[in-house]
Amino acid sequence: MTKKLSDPKNTIELIKQNQFAFKKKFGQNFLIDGRVLDRIVQGAGITKEDDVLEIGPGIGALTQVLCEAAHHVRAVEIDRELIPILEKSLSDYDNVDVINADIMDTELRDLYPGPFKVVANLPYYITTPIVMKLLESDADIESITVMVQKEVAERMQAAPGGKDYGVLTLSVAYHAEAEIIANVPPNCFMPRPDVSSAVIKLRRRSEPAVTPRSPDHMFRLIRAAFSQRRKTLINAVSNDVSLGASKAELEAALQELGLDTRIRGERLSLQDFSDLSDILTA
Ligand code: SAM
Repeated sequence: MTKKLSDPKNTIELIKQNQFAFKKKFGQNFLIDGRVLDRIVQGAGITKEDDVLEIGPGIGALTQVLCEAAHHVRAVEIDRELIPILEKSLSDYDNVDVINADIMDTELRDLYPGPFKVVANLPYYITTPIVMKLLESDADIESITVMVQKEVAERMQAAPGGKDYGVLTLSVAYHAEAEIIANVPPNCFMPRPDVSSAVIKLRRRSEPAVTPRSPDHMFRLIRAAFSQRRKTLINAVSNDVSLGASKAELEAALQELGLDTRIRGERLSLQDFSDLSDILTA
């Protein structure tokens, strides 16, 4: 029987035996708390019916728990040095494949023919690009349950008006419903990260939350509105010449929507941005 890696003693032993040195450049902070591992898998709602993509299995602590709960696990790990370690730590399971690749270069549609769920303790240096790749993918991804930096989780599920509300909030809201399911302190990892972490679950919508005439225009508008947060929406957006919207046009559009002409971008909902975009592209 392979030892459970959720016990930190076993993690340390495996790392020593294999003379493994943590690589900062790959964001390697391994989970060493069994309760957190269980909470992630339970929060993701994994059952024996589910196929799961894990990004960055490390030495396999979360992978082991996923193998117990899921039908099948496909784990994509960039670090070649971890592959022989994973072969050992996962040798008890015949429902797992480890792929040595960069997730950013992986064709997600090819991973499973049917629907699958994503579960991961993400490397923090590349969290947003990975989450956006998953959300924008045409692969049949049902949900994404991931450990991220606490601050990033808060930006993903922020409400309008606050400092956390911005481009990331609206990009996530367009594709998914976000819910923080656990807060995780640094001492649950080895080595300890400098920041606190949180597990967030993103349930992908079958249709986007709003249907502007041009989603591309709406997101360019959103980026312009938040590029200078302290400015009013009219000033920030009219400064972006590529959008071609004059102050007068923006003022008329806000009035048509019943919004204050001195409003800042952080007060607008995704629906407001969609409506504003439609007026400006009409
Ligand atoms: N899942 C393990 C755990 O919870 O203990 C390890 C999590 S660690 C925060 C992140 C993992 O992602 C590391 O194993 C790292 O080597 C891997 N990784 C980093 N960048 C990656 C990438 N672009 N593609 C795939 N894996 C990556």
